[in-house]
Amino acid sequence: MGSYTKKDIMRLVAEEDVAFIRLQFTDIFGQLKNVAITASQVEKALNNQIMIDGSSIEGFTRIHESDQYLYPDPASFAILPWAAGAGRTARLMCDVYNPDGTPFVGDPRGVLKRALKRAAELGYTFNVGPECEFFLFETDEKGRPTTRTGDEAGYFDLGPVDHGELVRRDICLALEQMGFEIEASHHEVAAGQHEIDFKYADALTAADNIMTFRMTVKTLAQNHGLHATFMPKPVFGINGSGMHTNMSLFRDGRNVFFDPEGERGLSGECYSFIAGLLAHARGMTAVTNPLVNSYKRLVPGYEAPCYLAWSASNRSALIRIPAARGQSTRVELRNPDPACNPYLALALCLTAGLDGIERGLTPPAEITENIFAMDAAARLANGIDNLPGSLEEAVYALNQDALMASALGEHVFPRYLEGKLREWDEYRTQVTDWETARYMIRY
Ligand code: GLU
Ligand code: MG
Repeated sequence: MGSYTKKDIMRLVAEEDVAFIRLQFTDIFGQLKNVAITASQVEKALNNQIMIDGSSIEGFTRIHESDQYLYPDPASFAILPWAAGAGRTARLMCDVYNPDGTPFVGDPRGVLKRALKRAAELGYTFNVGPECEFFLFETDEKGRPTTRTGDEAGYFDLGPVDHGELVRRDICLALEQMGFEIEASHHEVAAGQHEIDFKYADALTAADNIMTFRMTVKTLAQNHGLHATFMPKPVFGINGSGMHTNMSLFRDGRNVFFDPEGERGLSGECYSFIAGLLAHARGMTAVTNPLVNSYKRLVPGYEAPCYLAWSASNRSALIRIPAARGQSTRVELRNPDPACNPYLALALCLTAGLDGIERGLTPPAEITENIFAMDAAARLANGIDNLPGSLEEAVYALNQDALMASALGEHVFPRYLEGKLREWDEYRTQVTDWETARYMIRY
């Protein structure tokens, strides 16, 4: 992302023939929202004077306290490359504020900022590199998504079997034009499944990037007559889509997870961070894996984790330590999925890891065997617990984790819980294909 000032933006809007600016923010369930303004209003917007009606946004405010203001983050300015030509469109990510000038506690971006402030007080910067997977499906004659892929390819395959190659190429080019550094893009294991990895960034930028990424993938797929979905498990019996989350803490520009003298080249802080993640893994799953459908991915046999364990290499564990050391030393959490609200998910990951550091926790022994191949008795003997098996179980676990609840804050926590339990109840009482109808388009 750029490091634009208000003045730069005023100039760019004029020079680049920008006619519309979309002011974007995210609701508590991770849906990107926006209000478009014309270029004539850009100065007003940059002076934080654009108002929205928060009572109409899921999980925001009640009707009698509904006025809120959008404070654009100038660093997030980007011209949307697919809306090129005369009268271009740009976007700005925004923070949501109350009329009295205080940050609105229900703004997910604000929740992450609060967690980052805590890290900064301890001297840490939190860096995150996500790996978002998604499916490209064909649409029917009415333009509605199907679960047909028209694609027989598998992991790392090339065209012509990989029908998604051209779309992926367009997505990568568009993201680069918006300032992303794309590190890799490839076909994933399942037919119609893809992954595009972009360079790690500080957590706030990473979360903004995930929102931009989802919007870009969906838009460009649509331009190719396809439907992109981040629904975690759209098709039974094949791999689902994860969002492996690579995390590291830096202090004074140095990766504190790396210690050449430490066991496996990892520092005590790194081990404590892992222990903190494990201690709160069950409590944060309702946020990292937010849908009824998320729990259909978290089953043995499809490269998705379901057991609470860590390992330096074993991909069946919840937490893995990729081989890179030095500045690239990182902890990979494997359960998050790309339907999550990235601001809330990263806030909880950070809070959990920092709790491990502050309490000086040490993780249980590394599990090097394939956990999927262990029987239940062996798991019990090794003290390996499960991730929650359903959205309902995950919500209960969140409700019991006071630290995760306080990281979400007293506004978001009850509304999130209530929304997810409602979703669970709706699912339990539907006889039709509720999940596909509800999730395929929204996520
Ligand atoms: N798609 C797998 C998942 O659900 C991950 C595959 C991989 O290792 O990239 O998490
Ligand atoms: Mg992958």
